[in-house]
Amino acid sequence: MVLGIHHVTAISGDPQQNVDFYVGVLGLRLVKQTVNFDDPTVYHLYYGDGIGRPGTLMTTFPYGHILPGKRGRGETAAITFEVPTGSLDFWATRLGIEVSHSGEEVIFDKRVVWALDPDGLRVELEEVETPAEYTEWTQSSVPTQFAIRAIRRISLMPARGRSIGSFDSTEAALTGMLGFELTREEGNRKRFKVGVSEVDVIDAPEEPMARNSAGTVHHVAFRNENDEVHEKWLMDLNRNGFHTSPIMDRDYFRSIYFREPGGILFEFATDQPGMLIDETAEHLGEALRVPKMHVHRQDHLERVLPKLNIPGVTR
Ligand code: ZN
Repeated sequence: MVLGIHHVTAISGDPQQNVDFYVGVLGLRLVKQTVNFDDPTVYHLYYGDGIGRPGTLMTTFPYGHILPGKRGRGETAAITFEVPTGSLDFWATRLGIEVSHSGEEVIFDKRVVWALDPDGLRVELEEVETPAEYTEWTQSSVPTQFAIRAIRRISLMPARGRSIGSFDSTEAALTGMLGFELTREEGNRKRFKVGVSEVDVIDAPEEPMARNSAGTVHHVAFRNENDEVHEKWLMDLNRNGFHTSPIMDRDYFRSIYFREPGGILFEFATDQPGMLIDETAEHLGEALRVPKMHVHRQDHLERVLPKLNIPGVTR
């Protein structure tokens, strides 16, 4: 089975607005400024806990001027961050003031505070008693007792199943392949769990198909311990009929990409080597780190990428 959620990657618009929301409002730490492997003139920003631990990472490709995406089937509908018990009143007030679209909802008997990020992506906050592993970021504008700890859950809205081998749905892939267990079911929502991570699957056949662009999730990644486990997964996925990428070196982890039966792009990512491979914990995310394959373009990229003002980081 996978260990849990590793990271979520979304497509975004303006990079500064993106930083202002995820660092300035949500209080996450910008733990890596790097660029998109496929288009290095676009940032790849990583937000997370104090040391950028797997499971806490929200990442974005802020393309600047880009058409808004459309929410719907075949994509991730929401990302839920866990916050400490007793912190939701703080968040409801903060998001009510700082964000133009926010509100509250009860999902499976639990209060959830939600907000749309600057591009319309839905993020949710939920109180969780037993915290996931995380390291606080002491320069956050959010006081420690209220701080976001990790990504608790993603909510998927699959398209109608396109069978892959013997897996005819997202649910079948989650339980039969990735090791998730069904823990709750109500109305059109089912909840699955592995480790401390959860995946909700929402059945919404009336929804239109999603269009992947600003404000939508590009892919979700699940954790594998190391390269050896990764190799086994690659064989298993291929044997079960999944079309996968080869194992790709993403500098901070190794990745395998594949589409699940509901049309959503999944990634498996290793815990190692992690965010601390090229920066100290003290200075994480403060300078542009260009991937090995694009390092010869570092000077050019530093000139063309917009300068970012990172809340909490003085230079
Ligand atoms: Zn990824």
